[in-house]
Amino acid sequence: MNQKFSLPRGTADILPDTVLLWETLEKSARQILKSYGYREIRTPIYEDTGLFKRSLGSTSDVVNKQLLELAASGDDSLCLRPEGTAAVVRSYIEHSFDKKETLSKFFYIGPMFRGERPQKGRLRQFHQIGVEAIGPDSALPLLDAEVLALAMHLLNALGVKGSRLKINSLGSKEDKGHVSAWLRGEFAKQKDELCEDCQNRFERNVFRVLDCKNERCKKTVVKVLGEGKGLPLSEDSTKYFNDVKTALTDLNIPFETAPHLVRGLDYYTHTVFEITAEGLGSQDAVGAGGRYSGLVHELGGSAKTDFGAIGFAFGIERLLLASGQAACDVQPLDAFVIAMDEAYQAQAFKLLDTLRKNGISADMSFKSSSMKSQMSKADKANARFALILGEQEIKDGTVALKDMKAGTQEIVLLKDIVIKIVKKLS
Ligand code: AMP
Repeated sequence: MNQKFSLPRGTADILPDTVLLWETLEKSARQILKSYGYREIRTPIYEDTGLFKRSLGSTSDVVNKQLLELAASGDDSLCLRPEGTAAVVRSYIEHSFDKKETLSKFFYIGPMFRGERPQKGRLRQFHQIGVEAIGPDSALPLLDAEVLALAMHLLNALGVKGSRLKINSLGSKEDKGHVSAWLRGEFAKQKDELCEDCQNRFERNVFRVLDCKNERCKKTVVKVLGEGKGLPLSEDSTKYFNDVKTALTDLNIPFETAPHLVRGLDYYTHTVFEITAEGLGSQDAVGAGGRYSGLVHELGGSAKTDFGAIGFAFGIERLLLASGQAACDVQPLDAFVIAMDEAYQAQAFKLLDTLRKNGISADMSFKSSSMKSQMSKADKANARFALILGEQEIKDGTVALKDMKAGTQEIVLLKDIVIKIVKKLS
């Protein structure tokens, strides 16, 4: 018996009318990313599972619940990549970029995989556009500002509506050490006030309590930090954060300081940020990122080098939703070739080949049918011109060129048809 298969849960078919939107988005994103000096990098869609365990930290949800491991991967434990940063850092180290340049700026576009519970705006296979700026010269507030400016530039150019940039600082690695010990002590005193999740995780990853959505946890955080107050940071870290904010103000980039904003992953230090947009429902984060300088050492970067690293990732599905663009019309064709009799199909096919080899997009009906039915196919294909081969045209070595918009028709010598169409299209 035949079996019908359906799409795996949490994935989506991107159909031809929507692919056009993706192409347009990717094209303008690439152009902007390159204009900031970022170069595209393409890493595999699966990696050693250890890479993500090491980089994302054993307490993150992504590692605990969402890694999609490949079953039959032999001796190695492999998994589909849940995000882009770890693989880019792996590649940066593996290809010794640190020996070649002091600042490496990469971008990537591609699918990511997480075994999440699917819901609107949350998929198991989704796509990200991300950037990573890595190297000893990356540990500078102006670079944080560049990355944020780039993120906002992308959103504006892609037509994302109602975007809000929220930033915070987690301080240096040393600050994070002191602050987490202090926070743990404070939350231990208020343990009963925390939700069950936070009671379980505050020993392992105390920063997660800060962005817990539970009202009781929110109140406890305010009690511990003080109303409107952020984390107690060192003077140097505070200055770093102020320099980032000044640079953003100088570039007229609106932002909000969000004192309780943290990122779920262990490796973030200093600047962290999240960008939300309108029209996304409860999953309103369109992108997020931050500074993750320590990760490069963690993944084997030379101990002698003081690496800096910062990046962000946007979800493409959410970018498209937030830009509110509907699916496009059928991709237009330059020409549709029509053979008025089955006997002319071979000549029509040859003409089609000539058009395509001269850069004219073209198609035909491979099944011989009436003129009316072929004209309607030309119409459906959104063709600019119909090229009709009838008895007279075949005899004379000509073709009837019908302008589908204007409705006009003229007879053109076959040998001149390419030039004629190219001229009309330009
Ligand atoms: P993250 O890597 O978790 O910081 O996510 C960065 C961005 O990727 C988010 O702001 C979303 O736009 C997008 N994203 C993350 N997870 C998913 C998912 N499961 N489905 C769709 N988009 C996602």
